[in-house]
Amino acid sequence: MKSIMKIVIVGAGPVGCYTAQLLKKMGYQPIVLEEHLTLGKPVECAGIISSKLLDLMRPFVSEEAVINKINGFNINSAWVESFSINIPGIAVMVNREKFDANLGAGLEIYLGQRVSSIKRENGFYLLETVKGRKFEADILIGADGVNSMVRKYLLEKYAQQKGHKNQNIKLDYYFGLQYQIRLTNSEQVMTNTNTMTNISAMANTNANTNDIIQVYFNGTIPFFIWIAPENHQKLRVGVIAEEGKKVLTDFLREKGIEGKIEEVVTGKIPVGFIPTYGKQIALVGDAACQIKPLTGGGLFYGLQSARLLADCIAEGHLEQYDNNWKKMFGQEIKFGIKARKIYESLDEQKRGELFQLFKKNAHFIEQMVDYDHHSLLFREAFRRPQLLMDAGKLFRFYLEDLVKEFFA
Ligand SMILES: Cc1cc2nc3c(=O)[nH]c(=O)nc-3n(C[C@H](O)[C@H](O)[C@H](O)COP(=O)(O)OP(=O)(O)OC[C@H]3O[C@@H](n4cnc5c(N)ncnc54)[C@H](O)[C@@H]3O)c2cc1C
Repeated sequence: MKSIMKIVIVGAGPVGCYTAQLLKKMGYQPIVLEEHLTLGKPVECAGIISSKLLDLMRPFVSEEAVINKINGFNINSAWVESFSINIPGIAVMVNREKFDANLGAGLEIYLGQRVSSIKRENGFYLLETVKGRKFEADILIGADGVNSMVRKYLLEKYAQQKGHKNQNIKLDYYFGLQYQIRLTNSEQVMTNTNTMTNISAMANTNANTNDIIQVYFNGTIPFFIWIAPENHQKLRVGVIAEEGKKVLTDFLREKGIEGKIEEVVTGKIPVGFIPTYGKQIALVGDAACQIKPLTGGGLFYGLQSARLLADCIAEGHLEQYDNNWKKMFGQEIKFGIKARKIYESLDEQKRGELFQLFKKNAHFIEQMVDYDHHSLLFREAFRRPQLLMDAGKLFRFYLEDLVKEFFA
């Protein structure tokens, strides 16, 4: 019976492949359509995920896909002295090409098949690719990323049903750019004071900064710049900002980072809260905007939602999927969107005060931060009278707004 139901997944990114793997395990025979000729390429990701997520993906993802272990973050800003958040084993850096290829192993994937049209006829979805191939589906899953055409189709139908224009459903897009740099002088390492230094100068300090991600905030970019080391020779330096190329060029010069750019990664990040279910059709991953609005990370929510989606299909209740994933991550995303809007509206002085507050409470952050659930830190903070008072003095107006989000 299960094998008779035709499930078509558009997009063989990590989320589409993982959804297919779970369905296959349940006895279905999903097919996956992918526009590119190779899985995992082009890479559009820094590849940083929580160790918790890696553990969940272990049955599919091999140790080979893991490049580095991350034990903390150095927070650098234009306003306060740098400080560290040390959390041994909090995250890992993965090779997205291998990660995606692992997730796609053994699946029925049609490569080089870009879906160009979707129609619904006699209870089926009819898909056609640019190469003229036709596919029929009882259930259609859009795992086709940030520019999802399945999302476009679903939102148009949703808008028609509700009798309004789908322009009412608002999405924000942010642009990411990352360079993979092989250092000219492989003895260079990042110091805790965030400039490059020669490794021999640090010989007495036992400092191992190859497992620390440097993060830089300033008054002009909405997110941050990151330096994530692959090893002592290679860095991933990236930013999410409109003029990413200029920002990174200035930054590399200022920090004295010299080397060969071996790979350039670009991509868009969709931030929003949208309907993800229609008649026998669902969105998952970036297509569904299952993204952490504060950092742009999408793998955790996307892969977790894939599991919820596969369970709903197996239970014969696809209509519950939208509710189920939103029960799990919806509030996180809504909180993140609000917090992001507030952060972007802060002037230099307020951003400075915010980072002073973070620095003062670095130990609390170390103890309480959850890499995949950012709002938990704020919830905990609301329980600390002193912290709440400090935050209230600076951000009274905004705090009320954020608290409302928790009780909405
Ligand atoms: C610069 C940058 C850095 C990032 N760093 C991180 C990070 O460190 N950690 C993290 O968790 N997230 C990060 N992200 C986000 C992360 O890359 C995405 O959330 C993740 O790739 C989403 O996976 P997905 O499977 O939903 O979509 P995708 O990986 O985008 O996969 C979608 C697939 O669908 C295919 N496709 C699209 N349209 C069609 C079509 N019409 N027909 C057929 N195939 C189609 C595409 O070719 C693609 O293979 C980053 C994003 C950017 C831009």
